Amino acid sequence: MKILKFGGSSVGTPERISDVIGILKSYLDNGIEICVVFSAFQSVTDKLISLSRQTVERNESYKKELEQLKQIHINAIDFLLKEKSEKISVGKKVIKLLVELEEILHGVYLVKELTPRTLDYIMSFGERLSCTIISEVMNYKGIEAEYLDSRLLVKTDDSFGNAKVNFDVTNKNIEEYFLSHKKIQIITGFIGTTEKNETITLGRGGSDYSASIFGAALNAEEIEIWTDVDGILTADPRKVSDAFSLDAVTYEEAMEMSHFGAKVIHPPTMKPALNKKIPIRIKNTFNPSFIGTLISEKDGSENFSVKGISSIDDITLLRITGSGMVGVVGIASRIFGALAKEKINVILITQASSEHSVCLAIMPQYGELSKKVIEEEFKWEIRDGMIDEVFVESGMSIIAVVGGDMTHTPGISGKAFQALGKNGINIIAIAQGSSELNISLVVQKEYLKKALNVLHNSLFLSKQKTLNLFLIGPGMVGSALLKLILERNAFLAEQTHTNIKVVGVMDIDKMYYDENGIDVKDWRINLQNSKSESNIEKFIEQMRGMKLPNSILVDCTARDKVVQYYRQILNSSISIVTPNKIANTQSYEKFTALREAADKYNVQFRYGTNVGAALPIINTLKDLISNGDEVIKIEGIFSGTLSFIFNTLKEKDSFSEVVKIAQEKGYTEPDPRDDLRGLDMARKLLILIRESGIQFELKDIEIEKLISVEAENADTIEKFYERLKADDEKIIERKKNAAAKSCVLCYIAKYESGKASLSIQELNSQHPFFNLTGSENIVAFTTKNYQNPPLTIRGQGAGADFTAGGILADILRISNYLG
Ligand code: ADP
Ligand code: ASP
Ligand code: MG
Repeated sequence: MKILKFGGSSVGTPERISDVIGILKSYLDNGIEICVVFSAFQSVTDKLISLSRQTVERNESYKKELEQLKQIHINAIDFLLKEKSEKISVGKKVIKLLVELEEILHGVYLVKELTPRTLDYIMSFGERLSCTIISEVMNYKGIEAEYLDSRLLVKTDDSFGNAKVNFDVTNKNIEEYFLSHKKIQIITGFIGTTEKNETITLGRGGSDYSASIFGAALNAEEIEIWTDVDGILTADPRKVSDAFSLDAVTYEEAMEMSHFGAKVIHPPTMKPALNKKIPIRIKNTFNPSFIGTLISEKDGSENFSVKGISSIDDITLLRITGSGMVGVVGIASRIFGALAKEKINVILITQASSEHSVCLAIMPQYGELSKKVIEEEFKWEIRDGMIDEVFVESGMSIIAVVGGDMTHTPGISGKAFQALGKNGINIIAIAQGSSELNISLVVQKEYLKKALNVLHNSLFLSKQKTLNLFLIGPGMVGSALLKLILERNAFLAEQTHTNIKVVGVMDIDKMYYDENGIDVKDWRINLQNSKSESNIEKFIEQMRGMKLPNSILVDCTARDKVVQYYRQILNSSISIVTPNKIANTQSYEKFTALREAADKYNVQFRYGTNVGAALPIINTLKDLISNGDEVIKIEGIFSGTLSFIFNTLKEKDSFSEVVKIAQEKGYTEPDPRDDLRGLDMARKLLILIRESGIQFELKDIEIEKLISVEAENADTIEKFYERLKADDEKIIERKKNAAAKSCVLCYIAKYESGKASLSIQELNSQHPFFNLTGSENIVAFTTKNYQNPPLTIRGQGAGADFTAGGILADILRISNYLG
């Protein structure tokens, strides 16, 4: 025989009840003997509790809620039965129960008292109503079924709200009852009776337990718990969207996960099944053909040491500290004794080996009471200053990382802590049982969802990592990046196990975001259609508020507006990737502050495209420095425009003509003076100097002007060219002088011995820049290890596609760092 249990989620609507009856029918058609436990219809127990509370407070709205409750059951009858006579017959039974419920509520209303005993009685109506309706409907559909009120058989103590079962009596009752009742039993879950025959409940979610109690008493071959998910998942799917179902877990693992919040199965359920070694299978009513999860003595086929991550979302921490606790025997037992007297359950305990402090987690409703009873217990020690005041901290969550195999696998906690640290999540307390079945962590509740996702990513999907990207400025470079991500995502997922999810985009007018990832293909249309006007502060607030793991901001603007927020962003444990040079060329103090923020919050600030676009200039320099090398000299041409102009000048005899050619070919800014001022190249030199570990400011770079003051101040571009032409002679003169020495002219950025400059230089054929062509960039680092020749990097150093490629490389570097 099999025991099947259907939870409220399986009987949420009349249509679903009909599907469940279909599932039962298929078992019977296959000759499988079954009996079935049902919960109340979905949310009915919650409604009964809320009704009771409103009634005792004489809040008249209880009448409206009672009416809704009646309607849920009447509608089910109406939907499930065809004939009027059938509807009337079942309706009568249901109305009788509802009238009784109304009378009891009226009693509560009058006496203004709601005892745990009365509340249990009121809650029992949920299961009694659902099972009455379902058993009747089954009979009308030709399946011979019998309503079984489990209060007849399940006997318990008198802990109302959370009864302890008397198995000796209960098992005997069940065995005997089933000897004479051969029809399919439709059993009310969740309820039982005390020795005095008072109605009692087995704790919220207790129908699972009922199934196990009946299953064990009847020596069932399997207990099936039918719910609304594909079994036990690696985490609660409402909090971790990547959670996936496990094919098997052990009883102990299931017990541990459910104790720490995995609502999918009620914690005591495992015990009766384990005693009789009856396997429990969790199945999905909405996906009946799926195999689900098997809970048994055997482990699953998955290769995970960790099986699941669950959480208790709202707890309060109590911290008891004091020098008088060190080495004193019996402190812990007095703390627990004081709490036990008030029936306060302690969920987690940690004590530092110095014994100077003890930290306890309890349910939030007991926070103040716990403080009171502990302070009362230690009142003399507190008076004498041996123990400090008890500190209560609310708004915390416990996360439990559960898995039977963790015992044999070193490094799990290290991995978990590292992942949390790199995402800026502070762990407030840690506890690990010596069985190593569970590592429990306390974090602030506001970080719970992020922490669960970070842990899930690192412990289950370490091979497949998701980066959450927020892009500001989808202009030339930004849109090239989005295109690249679209093209490369499948390859990256396969080859580097990195999944890049673009979560938010903002341009100058509009912004939009979607936590589940936006469709990169249609980003432009979606951005245009977005109703949110662009607002940098709101965008950043949204990005921080989402608390997504592995969040990265990509700033593709060239302005300082976003840069002002960099520190705040890094402080929120969000990494930054940018081709924007402004942050690195402000004062040295601000430059270092950003690095410190990134270090402190374990995130990355990457700007490899600041110099030479995708050329590996900055990252090579970083490598040299971290390997202990020292920079002696930097020489470079970091401007495609200036490179082109001077390379072309090798063949032409007019500087102004060459500038014009550069402009016609699209190498210059709309106003070529923006290139000729050399400021952009100076900024790049400054970044390389600073990256070499040298404190330097932009104003200390000497810049040789390529144009006269008159040319610079000309009010139109035409006039600018005229003035430039007037100066042609001077440069051509220099070119001739150089040629006489077999040299060419180049405009070079240089740093050496504490001096930095941008100037026209004569280069001989030995110089690594002598043969430069077109608009190439080049840099030569003379270092302690690379003196002759210097380490030289040369290639195309500009263009939206190149820059986008460099940004993507930086994003992947962050992915590697996240591990
Ligand atoms: P039922 O009404 O069938 O008893 P519950 O709502 O009590 O269903 O339990 C099922 C729910 O438990 C799922 O919908 C899911 O949101 C939640 N849940 C929490 N943790 C887990 C987990 N690790 N695996 C599966 N489900 C989980
Ligand atoms: N109906 C009860 C509850 O909501 C029992 C259960 O669902 O298992 O807690
Ligand atoms: Mg449940």
